[in-house]
Amino acid sequence: MKKGIDTSEEHALKLDEKDPLSNFRDDFYIPEDTVYLNGNSLGLLSKRAESSVLKVIDEWKELGITGWTEGETPWFFMAEILGEMISDMVGAKPEEVVSTGTTTVNIHALVSTLYRPHKGRDKILADELNFPSDKYALEGLLELKGFDTDEKLKMVPSSDGYLLDEDKIVEMMTEDVVLVHLPSVLYRSGQLLDMKYLTEEAHKRDIIIGFDCSHSAGVIPHELHGWDVDYAMWCGYKYLNGGPGSTAFLYLHERHFEKEPKLKGWFGYEKERQFELSLDFVHDKSAGGWQISSSSVLGSAPLLGSLEIIEEAGLENIRKKSRKINEYFIGLVSELLDDVEILSPERAEDRSSHVAIKHESADAISSLMREKGFITDYRPPNVIRLAFSPLYNTYREAWLTVMCIRDLIDK
Ligand SMILES: *Cc1c(COP(=O)(O)O)cnc(C)c1O
Repeated sequence: MKKGIDTSEEHALKLDEKDPLSNFRDDFYIPEDTVYLNGNSLGLLSKRAESSVLKVIDEWKELGITGWTEGETPWFFMAEILGEMISDMVGAKPEEVVSTGTTTVNIHALVSTLYRPHKGRDKILADELNFPSDKYALEGLLELKGFDTDEKLKMVPSSDGYLLDEDKIVEMMTEDVVLVHLPSVLYRSGQLLDMKYLTEEAHKRDIIIGFDCSHSAGVIPHELHGWDVDYAMWCGYKYLNGGPGSTAFLYLHERHFEKEPKLKGWFGYEKERQFELSLDFVHDKSAGGWQISSSSVLGSAPLLGSLEIIEEAGLENIRKKSRKINEYFIGLVSELLDDVEILSPERAEDRSSHVAIKHESADAISSLMREKGFITDYRPPNVIRLAFSPLYNTYREAWLTVMCIRDLIDK
């Protein structure tokens, strides 16, 4: 579909000039001669994240063990402090979020508590397009209970391999289902699911529901508490720019605080009494109760700086730019690239911050793009994902990308 948009470079430059977030790009280290379109897999380093890590390194140097209590952000409380910092961005109460573990470990920690099978109601509903690790984790949990995963794990199918139909998901919330685990955004097509609607429908049927928000955290506002979502988790290294393997987050609705964590560990102990080192486990009545081990302080420290930037830019503004730059990119693709199909949803409100395109020579296109400095993400057999991270990508980069793809296809 041709949209008749202005395809000139001048127009791209004008959009950048009018971009209220354009200053934030200077906060980031952009790899030289590169158009970096992979912020949905690994966000870039910011100067502020760099300095918050160096700060902790210095504290370790100068304070040794005393850093746990005397650090500028005391290491012992860093997980809770980061949880509080991000709680507004995900619409949760401060005590409902903690920074801990990794995404997959957090799925284990939360689902092992909330999955309570009983006679006739013992199935988990997931979907066939979620990130594989989510499915592995759910299978592992079912196997630990001695269940046959083929029987207990129901997968919502996709009709085209890229998108999910929300009504189909609801239709599969049948009486045998006790828990639904879904992504907020499908990692391939970038489809954003309606978490509010799905939560309402699950709760009408007495089903626990949780979301893996790895591809929406930091780029889309959430109302996890307001929507009444039971649990969620997300990683720190995509749009949150926390660095490779940085500490992840978990959210647990306060109504579940009294429930017993099943992956117990000493960092989930009642915070004030943790160092009494009692052999009887009593968990903290907050999301913090679901921590397992000592905080990964060095893996968390970058988030102190990177979350500050997001807070300053404002998540609403970030979302606005993300929609606009994606709309612009999709407009250019429709206008200028004939054999390229857009796999991401058509309506802007159904998309996250990356666009997936399909071309029969996607493999070759993406490797030639890489040679020219365009870092994208190829997904076999014929899909390229391009993420526009609103804090550092520009409209001109979107324009350059389309020009580059057009040249390659023409050749
Ligand atoms: C990136 C991502 C993960 C990553 O999991 P880790 O355990 O942190 O490596 C998990 N699930 C989804 C949906 C993701 O997008």
